[in-house]
Amino acid sequence: MLADNIFLKIANKQIPAKIIYEDDLCLAFHDINPQAPMHVLIIPRKVIATHAEISEVDRDLLGHLHLVAAKLAQQLGLQEGYRLVLNCKELAGQTVPHLHLHLLGGRAFTWPPG
Ligand code: AMP
Repeated sequence: MLADNIFLKIANKQIPAKIIYEDDLCLAFHDINPQAPMHVLIIPRKVIATHAEISEVDRDLLGHLHLVAAKLAQQLGLQEGYRLVLNCKELAGQTVPHLHLHLLGGRAFTWPPG
């Protein structure tokens, strides 16, 4: 199942997505069901099922994902602010078992989240 998740298929170009950025470690594409005017997903090429499974070996990769998120936020015109979301496991709303950052922007966000 892990080697067969939908994000891995997007990374491997087996199914299409609106990819806006990619490098050797990660890629970013528009969410198919956007929750804000701008909603981009940033995923590592490495399959990590949930945030709970990250380890020391992923330190640089996780930093890289955040640097990419910050650069994309600037490029996408989110200078006034944006929200990064990472859902971990079903209780938090995770539906795809492949670690991903949601980069959301283009509207105001409330707190606490739903
Ligand atoms: P999460 O609920 O945190 O696991 O987030 C999964 C996200 O992936 C949701 O916001 C979905 O809308 C999005 N999604 C699912 N399938 C696709 C797809 N084929 N292309 C782009 N985004 C997708």
